[in-house]
Amino acid sequence: MKDRLLIKGARVICPANGIDKKIDVLVDAGEIKDTGVNIGASDGAISINATGLVLAPGLIDLHCHLREPGFEYKETVRSGTAAAVKGGFTTICAMPNTNPVADNATAIQSLMDKAKGQPARVLPIGAATKNSAGKELTEMADMVDAGAIGFSDDGNPISSDILMRHALEYSSALGVPIIDHCEVSSLFTNGQINEGWIASRLGLQGIPAAAEEQMVNRNIALAKLTGGWVHLAHVSTKGSVDSIRRAKKLGVRITAEATPHHLTLTEEAVLHRPGSSGIYKPLSEDAYNTMSKVNPPLRTQEDVDALVEGLADGIIDIIATDHAPHAYTEKLCPMQEAAFGISNLETAFASALSLVHNKKLNLPRLIESMASSPARLLQTSNKKIGQITKGFSADLTLFDMNTGWTVDTNQFVSKGKNSPLHGQKLKGKVILTIYKGQVVYSELNKDLLYT
Ligand SMILES: [Zn+2]
Repeated sequence: MKDRLLIKGARVICPANGIDKKIDVLVDAGEIKDTGVNIGASDGAISINATGLVLAPGLIDLHCHLREPGFEYKETVRSGTAAAVKGGFTTICAMPNTNPVADNATAIQSLMDKAKGQPARVLPIGAATKNSAGKELTEMADMVDAGAIGFSDDGNPISSDILMRHALEYSSALGVPIIDHCEVSSLFTNGQINEGWIASRLGLQGIPAAAEEQMVNRNIALAKLTGGWVHLAHVSTKGSVDSIRRAKKLGVRITAEATPHHLTLTEEAVLHRPGSSGIYKPLSEDAYNTMSKVNPPLRTQEDVDALVEGLADGIIDIIATDHAPHAYTEKLCPMQEAAFGISNLETAFASALSLVHNKKLNLPRLIESMASSPARLLQTSNKKIGQITKGFSADLTLFDMNTGWTVDTNQFVSKGKNSPLHGQKLKGKVILTIYKGQVVYSELNKDLLYT
């Protein structure tokens, strides 16, 4: 499709500059060229009749796992970016827990090189410690120069207090966050699902809320001590939200994310049978669904409610997917052996939209938490993204709020078909994704297009 597009009549939502109205948007040479009411037909531009649809800045995911190098059977940069644009994302940040771990500037550069020519922007997160082993800090300044936007040992917490302190001291000088997977290992032990009645009934080892909350509190104390910036990955409990709320009131430099699954599902999803079609045919004796096994685990309704409330009032800054694709053999097995994680990029936005449909969140706040706020947290990337503003990169997501569809993981373009949402109905669908002015994903009905 041509480089010059005129998107007409959509409800345009750009929280960064307070826009929520029906206007036209002209895209040219990869940038937002103009916005306004009734922009006239432009030379050579393709017009898109977007009446009834919503146009938002391209979604930005600060937390996903692309698995390359080392685990290409789970996902690659190519399949992951294809899944991203199908889900409405134009920028995704890749965690470093690959093999080898992305713990040096060469590895960061190599990912940046692989990302060239893909349908979405990929920004690397470097490991905070060498080989993510939690023993020795990495060369953070070199990695920031190569393009790293933050540091994390995700999959693992940074357990050592003194190492976390030093990580914060270095990273704050570089203007990037330490992104911590908050978990106290000795409380986590061999946990499988949330500690509670379901774990007891199924005879599975539970993961207590305290395993997360204790580390959240440690991180808040160290952020206060150092003035450094901690970003808390995938917050899952009410206690964590309460702590973050208190810390923010005190002015501690802390930001936090929640995933669509922790915002919409409870531990009871573990009891739901997998869908009856597709490769995940349930074994008749299955008492649980390994697709719902995720770390941190799905929690209780009280936790979900606290997360949603925290997201609505900005205590939780952003939604991030924690897209964690796995091969089906890693999920089609007993719970104790199943991998943690959900393939999330293709359902994240639609499942988060359920919060809007259920009137728990307004649409501009949802767009803010999935586009404008993540853009704000990418301070060092120096990219003009996350806004529908003249001169910004033409990264755009056009969606229909009301189209219903049934999740079929066999249709995922991600290599990871592992989702507890298989067979479930969602409302709201991405119709068009534009990255740097190019259409990279389209379900646009041809009669909505005219030249
Ligand atoms: Zn994690």
